[in-house]
Amino acid sequence: MDDARFLARMEQRLQEEKRAILKRLKAKQETGAQILENWNDPSDLEDVAAFTQEEEIFRLLSERELRELQEIQDALRRIREGTYGICRRCKREIERERLEILPTTELCQGCAQRDQARMDRMG
Ligand SMILES: [Zn+2]
Repeated sequence: MDDARFLARMEQRLQEEKRAILKRLKAKQETGAQILENWNDPSDLEDVAAFTQEEEIFRLLSERELRELQEIQDALRRIREGTYGICRRCKREIERERLEILPTTELCQGCAQRDQARMDRMG
């Protein structure tokens, strides 16, 4: 994955999604707004576990939002580390059309389909 422009665009999308989730959090409770003040920097959520108000955040965010936020953080970290867009399983590049639809995916089309097939079999 060496297309800087593509990566920059994906990073921007991920940041926007993160902001949208944090905005929902903010809307939920004023306490959330206080927490957000410390979360303006893109690298801010890096160590959520170390955050003193961790429990408050977990309480305010739904499980789905929390998972989304973690996936976004992981994807942003991969962009920084230069591993974004590389399939976690087969180490080949993930199709760009797939990343456009699922910016946080860690699997290429083929590996994701194999996973899905396996899950379907398990029912
Ligand atoms: Zn793969």
